[in-house]
Amino acid sequence: MKIFYFYLCCWLCIVSFSAQAKTELAATESTATESLAKESGIVIQEIAEGVWTHTSYYHYPNGVQFPSNGLIVKEGESLILVDTAWGEIKTLQLLTQIKKQINLPVHHAVVTHAHSDRAAGVDVLEAQGIDVWAHPLTKTLTTEHGLPVPNKVFKGLEQSNSQVDFHNVKVLFLGAGHAMDNLIVWLPGQKILFGGCAVRATSAKSVGNVKHGDAHSWLKITDNMAKQFSHAKLVVPGHGEVGGTELLSHTQTLLHVYLNSHALNKRL
Ligand SMILES: [Zn+2]
Ligand SMILES: [Zn+2]
Repeated sequence: MKIFYFYLCCWLCIVSFSAQAKTELAATESTATESLAKESGIVIQEIAEGVWTHTSYYHYPNGVQFPSNGLIVKEGESLILVDTAWGEIKTLQLLTQIKKQINLPVHHAVVTHAHSDRAAGVDVLEAQGIDVWAHPLTKTLTTEHGLPVPNKVFKGLEQSNSQVDFHNVKVLFLGAGHAMDNLIVWLPGQKILFGGCAVRATSAKSVGNVKHGDAHSWLKITDNMAKQFSHAKLVVPGHGEVGGTELLSHTQTLLHVYLNSHALNKRL
């Protein structure tokens, strides 16, 4: 009997030690990922097989850090990048992190509208020989805004409700929204919708910046997205946490609030 207790004690010690070791290892790994993210300012997260989000952070002078999401999609042995990081240096850091964490070359890129959280790193990509594709209006607007200009323009996306096949993803222009030129990207294989800044995260309390967009049209294209992509498994917003189709209904609600308050202000 004593021998039995002795073996039982040994076994319990081994089990608890290995559990503790596992916990410590997991803690070390997550600390390593966090410090990597802090060090580079870039977080790359796999959200489905061969699909990652990339998140970079803009530091406002008051110390607030604001996250911005793009997408990385594997196609064979190369990658498609959707949107640059928020800045040129951040985009260089993004390419370094992609090399470290995924280790496949980026062959093509899409920018989803002419704002710096999407397009500030276009020159960095082009300097590395990566083709950067955009809506024709994005080319005009990046020039006007003094942003680096994408070197390739999609043909067949000029009209609202148009789409083109771009390697293993679909690029759609449903119409103006957050920006006049906002594109969205659909991954048919994984049923992932990249809404970019035309989709608000559940944590967003307002529609955000509509200075360069059209709120009425935004509501229409969001209704359209909600119908067309009701079967989406994941929806990626331009800023904040990835979610499901509830992000589309949340964006609709925020737009209704915005439009109602503006209609009220006009009447007052
Ligand atoms: Zn924008
Ligand atoms: Zn944005």
